[in-house]
Amino acid sequence: KAKQKGRGKYEIFNQEMHTQALNLLTLETDLRYGIEKQEFEVYYQPIMNLNPIKLVGFEALIRWQHPDKGFISPGEFIPVAENTGLIIPIGKIVLEKVCQQIQTWKKKFQQITILKIAVNLSSKQFKNAYILQEIDEVMERTGLTSNNLKLEITETSLIDHSQETIKLLKQLKQRNLEICLDDFGTGYSSLSYLHRFPVDTLKIDRSFINCIGQPEENLEIIQSIIHLAHNLGMNVVAEGIETEEQLIYLQKLNCDFGQGYLFNRPLTAQETENLLRDGC
Ligand code: C2E
Ligand code: MG
Ligand code: MG
Ligand code: MG
Repeated sequence: KAKQKGRGKYEIFNQEMHTQALNLLTLETDLRYGIEKQEFEVYYQPIMNLNPIKLVGFEALIRWQHPDKGFISPGEFIPVAENTGLIIPIGKIVLEKVCQQIQTWKKKFQQITILKIAVNLSSKQFKNAYILQEIDEVMERTGLTSNNLKLEITETSLIDHSQETIKLLKQLKQRNLEICLDDFGTGYSSLSYLHRFPVDTLKIDRSFINCIGQPEENLEIIQSIIHLAHNLGMNVVAEGIETEEQLIYLQKLNCDFGQGYLFNRPLTAQETENLLRDGC
């Protein structure tokens, strides 16, 4: 009897794995098709100065409108794109769209010159031997020379602490690109190495901001990250601000910038344009 039960379990497990594998395969095929058919769009989420509240830039966030399945969140397809290498062409698409968009907005809105637009670079992209060349090519093709562009990398991109990584960061900085360390506090962050990297901004992960005002709040961590950043001459963005209470607390701690649903959700390019036109 036990054996039977055991076998049953095994089969269920097997079937689940099979289904999962099939789903991943389908997603990969769909992603390839999506690249070809240009199903990706970039949304822009405003980033605000916190005191006083004022627009300082945007984070570019990819959106995929699947022809049958509708909207698929980047949380679902970015990991697949990373595992299949498709993040390289997808990353290129995002970078190209953002650079073009900045150029278009520059002609229409004067204030764009002081705004920063942050593009996410997954560690697979960052580690790609041609990343610098690709960035140069896109900037040349779109004619972007200004310092509007910012790159968001994660701690995993810096994990090897290598001279090569430091060199790459310096080369990016030479191109007037700012560097933001995204989801800060969630990865394997050894605070002691941070000063070696030419990083401009630390972005505190949403999970810490979520907890403000909750029983499990960890205000000391937020406070420490902000102090650390300021002591290293970096500025800080809090990600995922949803409540007035969170905002007030972050203002008290001298957190420089913030983004979250309290201010805006990620906006389409058109909605972003309306916001810029209204002189935000
Ligand atoms: P991320 O870079 O940490 O981006 C922030 C995420 O938090 C976004 O989710 C944003 O919509 C969400 N968010 C912002 N404010 C709030 C808030 O107040 N509440 C809540 N609940 N969420 C908020 P999104 O757009 O679904 O992206 C998820 C992740 O996918 C990103 O996390 C990033 O790691 C990745 N991603 C998105 N676009 C790109 C891209 O173009 N390239 C790469 N490599 N990764 C991307
Ligand atoms: Mg990000
Ligand atoms: Mg983030
Ligand atoms: Mg995040």
